[in-house]
Amino acid sequence: MKFVYSEKYIVDFGIHVFPTEKYVLIKDRLLNEDIAEEKDFIEPSMPREQDLLVLLDKEYMNDLKNLRWTSRTMFSELPLTREIVDMYMLAAEGTFISSSVALEEKVVYHIGGGFHHAFKDKAEGFCYINDIAYAILRLKKENRIRRAVVIDCDLHQGNGTARIFRDDSDVFTFSIHQQNLYPVKEKSDLDIGLPDFADDELYLEKLDYALSVIENNMPFDLCVYQAGADPYKDDKLGNLMLSKEGLLERDSKVAEFCKKNSVPVSITLGGGYSRELDDLVDIHFNTAKIFYKTFRRKDENSYIKERNSI
Ligand SMILES: [Zn+2]
Repeated sequence: MKFVYSEKYIVDFGIHVFPTEKYVLIKDRLLNEDIAEEKDFIEPSMPREQDLLVLLDKEYMNDLKNLRWTSRTMFSELPLTREIVDMYMLAAEGTFISSSVALEEKVVYHIGGGFHHAFKDKAEGFCYINDIAYAILRLKKENRIRRAVVIDCDLHQGNGTARIFRDDSDVFTFSIHQQNLYPVKEKSDLDIGLPDFADDELYLEKLDYALSVIENNMPFDLCVYQAGADPYKDDKLGNLMLSKEGLLERDSKVAEFCKKNSVPVSITLGGGYSRELDDLVDIHFNTAKIFYKTFRRKDENSYIKERNSI
């Protein structure tokens, strides 16, 4: 399995709830537990301005380029430095690469991205650039995909993604999130707003329903999965009560869905603010591990084909 990663993702947000050191900790864990080898990592390069304009409005692009604090950048809840803006640009390219390679390899894990609160023309909620939308729009523009689905399992609604694709019938957006929480909700193709303190059982039941709806809207040439770790019960920003086992089961359901329906999947990380950093790393590591296992497992047909060809 391939992974997309850059050491430039570890940036200084000052005193902030978002721990960017998670990225290198997840990478190290994948190497230590033999899910990845050094040769499996792909490093994104900076996207060209003309590429970013597939997503970003010109004025907002200029604000980012010139580090201008305007009505478009000021709701990021982040500092605005060159290092930080470059990180978001790199992560956008990272999800594009991860999605491109997934078209060939079936599954790629981006140790980054999932910045689903950013819009075409403004930043919001720790997100300057919506890497998910950038990847899909660029692949569509290059005629490498026609239809895509976004499965967004972060604690928070994928409001930026929902808005960007609101009028695009080729992109199905699904978000399952805590209802009574940031952000102001946009309309996804399918939204499931969960009550405070929803547990594994309720979450997984709703996810099963959502996956059946997505299946009825097939076919899709690509799935971008936002595997946020913040529905975890010990998260500082939310009140969903998922256990690590529940989150693993969530990931397993998405992996099985993509595998069964032969939908290439590009995984992004999104949020995660657990009290213990180790828990956050565990949750994201488990996501990689279950996708690795699910996609490595040969399905019955290819097993039979392989036997017959001996
Ligand atoms: Zn979140």
